[in-house]
Amino acid sequence: MNAAPADQIRLLDLQAIDSKLDQLAHRRRGLPEHAEIEKATADHTALKDLVVAAEAQKGDTARELTKAEQDVEQVRARAARNQQRLDSGAITSPKDLENLQHEIGSLAKRQGDLEEVVLEIMERQESAKTRVEELSARLEHSTIVLTEAEGRRDAAFAEIDGEADKVKRDRETVAAVIPADLLKVYAKLRETQGGVGAARLYQRRCEGCRTEFSITELNAIKAEPADKVVRCENCSRILVRTADSGV
Ligand SMILES: [Zn+2]
Repeated sequence: MNAAPADQIRLLDLQAIDSKLDQLAHRRRGLPEHAEIEKATADHTALKDLVVAAEAQKGDTARELTKAEQDVEQVRARAARNQQRLDSGAITSPKDLENLQHEIGSLAKRQGDLEEVVLEIMERQESAKTRVEELSARLEHSTIVLTEAEGRRDAAFAEIDGEADKVKRDRETVAAVIPADLLKVYAKLRETQGGVGAARLYQRRCEGCRTEFSITELNAIKAEPADKVVRCENCSRILVRTADSGV
């Protein structure tokens, strides 16, 4: 393949631009914010689930409490009715009186037990409330952490993308004047050779793979016409001879 020496040198400019774009893309992918956001998102999701569970528990204890308070009220009302009957003097049979007194005693004991239950539920309800508050505060904090990391990432994206847009415009200008067939070979080599398709020959070395050529190899390269597109024998990249190549 042949190409004017000036076009071959332009290929080196293009390579520098493409490497710059690759670096920018690498920087974009490698931002520390990505890991931060991933972690913050996981924390946020986990906390949201915990808040939902704690809220449900709080709701459960509230319902339990209502039920237990109703139980106490029922027992208390029945005891009051019995007491009223007792006080009214309407019951005269000693056996009935004894039964009634016995029942009043049982109800008092039952009311005491139920009130214990109410207290126990109130305690659980209190801890459920505290837990909801604590988790909600942590959820709020995790939202801030996440939003803040996303903000930093977006700012970094904007900076990188702005720079990349500028470099891409330079690339268009440079690529526009390079022959299509040369560009095609370069692009293919870039794909297979880790992003580097064209390398300068400098101080007897291929700057693509750092191979140092022997005098014989160097003489063979020198002997090629200036418009011949030379390829590195080691890495097969386009080897560009420039004024300071020493050939
Ligand atoms: Zn090479």
